[in-house]
Parts: sequence; C-alpha cells; structure tokens
Amino acid sequence: MLHIQEFFPKLNKPFKGVITCHQKPDGDAMGSSLALFHFLKQLGHDVKVIAPTNWANFLDWMPGVDEVIDFEANRPLSTQIINDADFVFCLDFNILHRTKHLEPIIVNSKSIKILIDHHQQPDTASFGFGISDVKMSSTCEMIYDFIVQSGHSNLINLDIAACLYTGLMTDTGSFRFPSTTASVHKIVAHLKELGLQHSIIHENIYDQGSEARLKFMGNAFLYRMQVFPELNTAIMAIPKTDIYKFELRTGDTEGLVNYLLSIHGIRLAAIVIDREEERKWSFRSKGLFDVNIFARTHFEGGGHANAAGGRSSKSVDETAQDFIEIIKTYKNQLTQ
Ligand code: 5GP
Ligand code: MN
Repeated sequence: MLHIQEFFPKLNKPFKGVITCHQKPDGDAMGSSLALFHFLKQLGHDVKVIAPTNWANFLDWMPGVDEVIDFEANRPLSTQIINDADFVFCLDFNILHRTKHLEPIIVNSKSIKILIDHHQQPDTASFGFGISDVKMSSTCEMIYDFIVQSGHSNLINLDIAACLYTGLMTDTGSFRFPSTTASVHKIVAHLKELGLQHSIIHENIYDQGSEARLKFMGNAFLYRMQVFPELNTAIMAIPKTDIYKFELRTGDTEGLVNYLLSIHGIRLAAIVIDREEERKWSFRSKGLFDVNIFARTHFEGGGHANAAGGRSSKSVDETAQDFIEIIKTYKNQLTQ
C-alpha cells in the first residue's frame, strides 16, 4: 500500500470515484464519507457514496445523505457504479469483509482501492494507496488532514465542517475519550471559525430517539444487565423479543454499552444483541484492558483498544454465558 500522499497528484485529473464505509455506518463512517464526497465533488470528480447497508435515522439530516446509495436496496446500480469506478475509497474500516455483501463486488472490480482508517491491524495488502493510523480519534480527523495536506483547506465549507464534526464528536464520545488530542480541538476550532453550529449537530445526533427507545433502555437496565463487581465487568444481553416489543430501529442500541462503563469500578462493558443473522457484540473498556485483542481472540471481531465489536453464531444466552466464563480467566487483568 502506497502512502496516501502518493495519491494526491491524482486529485488533479478527473476520475470516477466510489466512497464506501463499514456496514451499518455510524457517525464517523457516514461523516467521513460525506465530507470526502463534498470535497471531491468540488474538485470536479464524478463521485458516489455507496453504504453497504442502511443506517440510523439520526444521520438523515447530514448534508448529502439523500444521495447516498444503500447497496442492499440497490444492488444492480451499486454494482455497475463500482465496476465503472477508477478508485474506491474505503473509509472507517480495516478489512473488506466489514462491508458485508459489498465485499466481493469491491474485490472483483478493477478499481484501485484506497484505505483511510484508524482501526487496528488493517489488511493493507488489499489497498493500492492508503493511510492507517490507530492514534487518530476518527476517520473524520483523517479526512480533515487529507484535505489540508493535499493543499485544499480552502475547500472546507460548512457542509464538510458539519460532516467532519459529526465523526469527531461521535468517535470521541463527545470529546471525552483519550483519543481526543490537541489536534482534535484545533480542528474543531477551525470548523467553528468557519461558522459551524455545533450544538445543532449534538441535538441532531443524540436527541432523535423515540419514547419506546427509552422504555427499552429502562427495561434493559432492569432485566438484561448483569454486573460482576469482582471482575469489574458488566454485561447486557438483548433478546430478539425486546427488539420487536419496543420496535427498535437501526441505531437505537448505539451507545447503550457506554452506560455500563458509568458504573463505579467497571472497566469492561459488553453488550450482545440478537440480530437477524448473528449475535452482535460490542465491547468497551477503560484503561489497559484491550478489547480489540479480546474481540479477536473470542468473538470473531476487532476494533480499537477501548472499543471493539464482534459476533457469534450461538444463541444470545449461550454466547452471553460463554462471555461470563471467558472473563473469569481474565480476572488478573481486569482487577489489577
Ligand atoms: P461498535 O461496538 O460500536 O459496533 O464498534 C466499536 C468499534 O469497533 C467501532 O470502531 C467499529 O468500527 C469496530 N468494530 C465493530 N465490529 C467489528 C468487527 O467485527 N471487526 C472489526 N475489525 N472492528 C469492529
Ligand atoms: Mn471511526
């Protein structure tokens, strides 16, 4: 994989580009994709954003989101666009299978793949150009650097600012995680100088829930949470019946796992959700317990040191029981 700077000269000649991200795009995946989209369009390139799946409603306000193509809802069109593309920009994921059913289409296209990502252990062999930096707070921070370092900071307009702020905010837990460096605050200062209205974005992202979602959360804290103080661990297992009963929509469980970390002393938090095709795990930790390694070792996943995901093909109760047994073997690391 050549360094992303080697790609900069190619920005001067019109190309057909596709921008994609991980399945079930979050604020950073959608924010970075749309920011890059607005940037490349200003340079005169023919670009489309193709999301591997649908996304949460609370991203629907984002500038340009109406033009994003949902691959699962538009397979023939998406396939054709990818087959015609010169470059496929792969944002906010480290390995192509994170694009789910889009993976074979991308792999089989003749396009050059470009990686811009901050997850651990990227599959660099699959990409022609790219940058992977786990120290980055978010892919949005990397897109900001991409625009500035390629000499085009003058093209950062309010649409791009709003998209970038969304990913910076969501991936840093509203600027509280250790990944929130001085550079992050300097970027936000720059976006504010351009006229960014940040509090509207917080409302757009965090205050769009339904009444049913709050009831779901109340139910989950009362009946689905187990706390193991002797292991500094809390877990929540959400059965399918809850998803139907409270009519949950995509994104309604996002962030729930973080509440478990708000319990005094908890260093490892986990939530497993009974989705249609698989049991989806989310792991969060505080301090040195590395959930990227934990998720890779036990739950076919990965991510970052303090935030990772994984999956299981077992039932939700079985995989939750597995987790409870596994963490006993980590007692020393969890309590030191
Ligand atoms: P979440 O728990 O919010 O789904 O994911 C937490 C972090 O881990 C996110 O940065 C997400 O992109 C990443 N992640 C989630 N699932 C997986 C996975 O299966 N593999 C890898 N490599 N990363 C994941
Ligand atoms: Mn991210």
